[in-house]
Amino acid sequence: MKRNFQPETLMMSYGYRPEWSEGAVKCPIFQTSTFVFHSAEEGKAFFEVAYGLRERGAKEKTGLIYSRLNNPDMEILEERLKLWDGAEACAVFESGMSAISTALFEFLQPGDLLLYSNPLYGGTSHFVHHVMTKFGIEVLGFRPGASRDELAQLIERSGKKDRLGMIYLETPANPTNDLVDIAMCRSVADQFGAAGRHVMVAVDNTYMGPLWQHPLQHGADLVLYSATKYIGGHSDVIAGACLGSAELIARVKTLRTFLGNMIAPHTGWLLLRSLETLKLRMEKQTENARIVARRLAEHPKVGRVHYLGLLTPADGEAYDIYRRQCTSPGAMVSFEVKGGEAEAFAFLNHLKLVKLAVSLGSNESLAQHPATMTHAGVDPAEKAAFGITDALVRLSVGVENAEDLWWDLEQALEKVAVAVEAVELA
Ligand SMILES: *Cc1c(COP(=O)(O)O)cnc(C)c1O
Repeated sequence: MKRNFQPETLMMSYGYRPEWSEGAVKCPIFQTSTFVFHSAEEGKAFFEVAYGLRERGAKEKTGLIYSRLNNPDMEILEERLKLWDGAEACAVFESGMSAISTALFEFLQPGDLLLYSNPLYGGTSHFVHHVMTKFGIEVLGFRPGASRDELAQLIERSGKKDRLGMIYLETPANPTNDLVDIAMCRSVADQFGAAGRHVMVAVDNTYMGPLWQHPLQHGADLVLYSATKYIGGHSDVIAGACLGSAELIARVKTLRTFLGNMIAPHTGWLLLRSLETLKLRMEKQTENARIVARRLAEHPKVGRVHYLGLLTPADGEAYDIYRRQCTSPGAMVSFEVKGGEAEAFAFLNHLKLVKLAVSLGSNESLAQHPATMTHAGVDPAEKAAFGITDALVRLSVGVENAEDLWWDLEQALEKVAVAVEAVELA
């Protein structure tokens, strides 16, 4: 009898055997730069496979050579991360930005067009506009909620429709939780591709993954993560990952070897530990976020609340995409404090439990002001178009006691009017 265990069951031991390490129940930190070969012949064989000089044998694994190429902490982490997204392969990196930049460099050529969803994560936006363009890649953004026809027209009018190389998505969008239909983007990519020229669809799944949204199942070629966020989950590590088919990830790993931006053994080990509680943490975070979002929506000092769990059939397309694409509303909530920047700042400054910091997905709740912090670099007209108003606060909900969290949010909201008046009088 055989049973296919669920990922949360496999996170404790999958891909590791105690006999590799004196019976240690847990995978140790392989803090080593290089690995001893049993013989010169073995070293030769390992290099032949690593450098693609010959096909790998059916049962042959890439032998351990040097920690820029491979290391047990890195490889076991990749094996475990694959399970959540049902991916064939995974490559892990020392940051989310290194996963994203390596994938873009590998799959785009000078002269290509990169179409992306707005708003993008600030670091990605900078990379796309200031680095990719230096290498002759043309970039074009589309607005949240754009229809299939709008995307096709945008590509047609760019004059580069036969050079579309990739559609790059972030869904739900940060910080407004706007959704992009991944399957629709797959169909647009296929429309502009040709025989021998596959147009890639890449999805930054940091906001929902790896539990609540599986882009590969909706037609994406690549899934990217800042593992700094939910996957790490303790605000103590920076890391990233890229997942997809064995063929695509082999290319990503080759470039990683030569850029040298692979994950370090200690970071890999920390993430192995984080993965053991990933599902527990993410489920508790959602449970708290649902409570907080519902109460915020009813609070007299709060305007609009952006939370997937508050979508209803009246929201039309957004609701349909949510039902098709996501299995949970997640733990990211953004909302407008009635008023503007002064009111939003007063709220943030009066929080006692929730920390005022950027980043997301961690055990502890964090709050920040997108317009002047994470999205400070976004053009003011675009900020307005994307709904990143001066009154908007973004909340990443943690695993604390929900009533404690609500106590903190409520007491900070109570202080808003008083604090703003005091500033105006001074
Ligand atoms: C944080 C983040 C990144 C960048 O990841 P780092 O680990 O900070 O390099 C990319 N995309 C999204 C959506 C993020 O939240």
